[in-house]
Amino acid sequence: MRSSDIIVVGGGTVGLTTACTLAEHGLKVRLIESHSPGWGASGRNQGFLGVQTRKSGVELQLALFGRELVEEASLRLSSFSFRPCGGMTVFDTERDLEFAAEFVSQRNRDGLPMEVLNRDQALSKCPIVRHDIAGATWNPLDGHQNTGELCAALAAAAERLGVELNLEIRVTRILLEGDACTGVEAGGEEFRAGTVVLAAGVWSQGLVEPLGLPTLFAPLRMQGALTEPGPWRFEPIVYGPSAASVYPAFRIPGNDDPSRFAHQDAARYPDTMLLECIAQRPDGRVLMGCPLDMLGLKDVTSTAGAAWMFSALTSRFPELGAMAIERFWAGVAPMTKDSLPIIDKVPGVDGLILNTGHVFGNLSSFPGARVVAALLGLADCKLSSTPFSLSRLLPDQETAHRTDTPGTDERRHA
Ligand SMILES: Cc1cc2nc3c(=O)[nH]c(=O)nc-3n(C[C@H](O)[C@H](O)[C@H](O)COP(=O)(O)OP(=O)(O)OC[C@H]3O[C@@H](n4cnc5c(N)ncnc54)[C@H](O)[C@@H]3O)c2cc1C
Repeated sequence: MRSSDIIVVGGGTVGLTTACTLAEHGLKVRLIESHSPGWGASGRNQGFLGVQTRKSGVELQLALFGRELVEEASLRLSSFSFRPCGGMTVFDTERDLEFAAEFVSQRNRDGLPMEVLNRDQALSKCPIVRHDIAGATWNPLDGHQNTGELCAALAAAAERLGVELNLEIRVTRILLEGDACTGVEAGGEEFRAGTVVLAAGVWSQGLVEPLGLPTLFAPLRMQGALTEPGPWRFEPIVYGPSAASVYPAFRIPGNDDPSRFAHQDAARYPDTMLLECIAQRPDGRVLMGCPLDMLGLKDVTSTAGAAWMFSALTSRFPELGAMAIERFWAGVAPMTKDSLPIIDKVPGVDGLILNTGHVFGNLSSFPGARVVAALLGLADCKLSSTPFSLSRLLPDQETAHRTDTPGTDERRHA
């Protein structure tokens, strides 16, 4: 039997930021990861720090705090290719650009320094987008990172902070003695700790089910591809108009119809949604995304996803048609009903904390770790933990929860 103050289960961005934060507070931390750091959704994600797409209210507050903490982390961790590059959403027609202007006004009221770009301004920021667009929204606060590199940087930082990293060991059970969680069983061994933080992403559900907790989120599969380096350069993250269909943030008064901006081929792929998005890495390679579906825990690519993504993106960004595809992959992230993570003590089980349900983890991981530290009484956090409570997702809270969150749409992107 091995013991520590805290066991963190899961070595994605959520588990790694939590382990580092708690170790910084002087706790003896053990992190148990079934594969390697970043093996799950974190290491497979496209690295978007998309603030403009986060809904007004708590979601945007979380994203803005996350954006601040990512930038701060970029100054103290080894490089994870963080770029404060801004982001744009392009629109095709003058009518849609009028909508974009209303959206930008709403975002300005929310405190984002956004503006509308005309066609020439948009093309100067992304010369490979089709030249007949009407214009774009622009948010200088959007950014980009390499989340796989971030996981490696966090794992190195964790080791420096004295975190014991147990890799390639799967937690099979949460150990209980009466009403108290006393540790976990992993790799046939018992690991004891005063507190267990469950940060196993979409796999957290399987570990809490034996404790009687109901379904807390749905698995959202996302797919992405990486091209060879391009001969041109663009800095921002770029979304197509389908972002306005996928993200409830765009559902402002007068735009209540989610199908208005759905991609023209949506009817051909009834189980899938498409978020058109691209970003160019510093090495010139282009990340492409992103078909979305909720067909279970499959973390493999689909033919429908490939067909739709490659045809849509080569139509919107014609230069991509000639590029070699170096990788095409899928991953699964947990999607709660309101897209907010679950960061809470499990009621009735002393010493068990959930830090899971992160669907836009690039922005929510660092603040989530601060909320955990606050739950443990180690530090204050400017975000209250209340919006991330477990109780909001328990069955008797469902009606109240749904009423509180207009525009909720389960099939959304991170
Ligand atoms: C293709 C794709 C694109 C995405 N794009 C973006 C984006 O651009 N921007 C954004 O903000 N978000 C994006 N996301 C979502 C983002 O990746 C997630 O929100 C985030 O990675 C969640 O982090 P996590 O640490 O909770 O989960 P994960 O990264 O999945 O980590 C969970 C870890 O737990 C481990 N684990 C599981 N079970 C056990 C067990 N029993 N014992 C021990 N360890 C276990 C797994 O191996 C895994 O490493 C994307 C996701 C995907 C798949």
